[in-house]
Amino acid sequence: MLEMNWIKDNQELVRNTATWKKVDFPLDELLDRDEKRRGLRQETEQMRAERNGLTKEVEQLLRKGDRPAGEIVKAQVRELNHRLNLLEADLNEAERHCRELMLLAPNPVSQDTPIGHDDNDNVELRLNGAVPEFGFTPRDHVELGELHDIIDIPRGVKAGGPRSYVLKGAGLMLHLAVQRLALDVLTARGFTVMDVPVIVRPEALERTGFFPGGMDQTYELSGDNRWLVGTSEVSLVSLYSDEIVELDTPMRLAGMSTCFRREVGSAGRDVRGLYRVHQFSKIEQVVLCRNDEGVSDQMLHEILANAEHILQLLELPYRVMAVCTGDMSLKTHKQYDIETWMPSRDAYGETHSASNLLDFQARRSGIRFRDADGRLQYCHTLNNTAVATPRILIPLLENHQQEDGSIYIPQALRKYMDGLERLELPQ
Ligand code: AMP
Repeated sequence: MLEMNWIKDNQELVRNTATWKKVDFPLDELLDRDEKRRGLRQETEQMRAERNGLTKEVEQLLRKGDRPAGEIVKAQVRELNHRLNLLEADLNEAERHCRELMLLAPNPVSQDTPIGHDDNDNVELRLNGAVPEFGFTPRDHVELGELHDIIDIPRGVKAGGPRSYVLKGAGLMLHLAVQRLALDVLTARGFTVMDVPVIVRPEALERTGFFPGGMDQTYELSGDNRWLVGTSEVSLVSLYSDEIVELDTPMRLAGMSTCFRREVGSAGRDVRGLYRVHQFSKIEQVVLCRNDEGVSDQMLHEILANAEHILQLLELPYRVMAVCTGDMSLKTHKQYDIETWMPSRDAYGETHSASNLLDFQARRSGIRFRDADGRLQYCHTLNNTAVATPRILIPLLENHQQEDGSIYIPQALRKYMDGLERLELPQ
């Protein structure tokens, strides 16, 4: 959420940001509502002062023993209280309406963010690792999964509906191994790893910037006023809502969770295999730091480097993209995506997404720290995928497949796979 005065002083930037991000933000309506709200606030304050003055007058009159005059003023106080109640109801309504509109205000983007319409306008910053050249016809992950009897999509769909899957035996072990690897890397790099709630209150989603816009993408537990998270970023940030946190050094958190996504609007897209599913697992990095853009930009590069390190340990070719305005969400200030090479798509596919949100989330969530002068300030928050699986199993199985159908297991995963160096085809 942005501050109202900042919005008023930066109207052109706010309008441009909304256009660049393709979000519908009724700025004029907000400005108009804000004017009315200010008027109501003033009127309410004046009326309260008047009422307090009259209340004192009643006390004085009664103290003097002038009961008849006291009763007349008392009646005026009653009348004023009645009008004040009505005015306060109007003010509450105006405050609520302004807040609803302010929740829709887009976070401005960094100066180096490319302006663009969609992911085709994202800019490739660097490539890492060579794309494999197979001397045979490579199989896709679905075929490999069936051959090795480690992925069963038809039975997953039978039980769970479209975009469901089953990971079996070594498939499940690989799914766990990439997560264990990510947790170990992040622990070694100073992150506190946590298993966090996946069932959350709607406030957690609103205050982290996923609601109201993303309601249709989120599964609701009807009857309970609870929702399922699409990322543990929601839970991790919400753990600190309405707290004053100590940020002498940035707070580095990693959440392990199942993620649930309705994928509304994706009908017909990525329907084969494990790319776009309704339920997946993710180790997510979240950082809380001081509201100094120099510091948070440095942290953005740190969490990006952590993800790259994990991909290098998985021996996978990838590229880093600067994400353009049209491919960003409302809350994002600056974003890098990592795309990993997926032979079956003959393309890089998104596997990680790193964002700096500045104080957008902290303002909504009420997360503050004391600066060097002891003043309370909203902190900056950032997030990035460490690993998301089963999507990462696509490049893992496809890039590491061998001509005989076996699959090479990268060195870094072997300790989580009982030392297994290859998945051999079942006899
Ligand atoms: P996001 O939180 O949307 O930035 O997504 C982070 C990562 O989660 C993506 O880069 C993917 O690796 C993974 N992911 C997101 N949505 C899905 C999905 N529907 N199915 C599988 N993996 C997903």
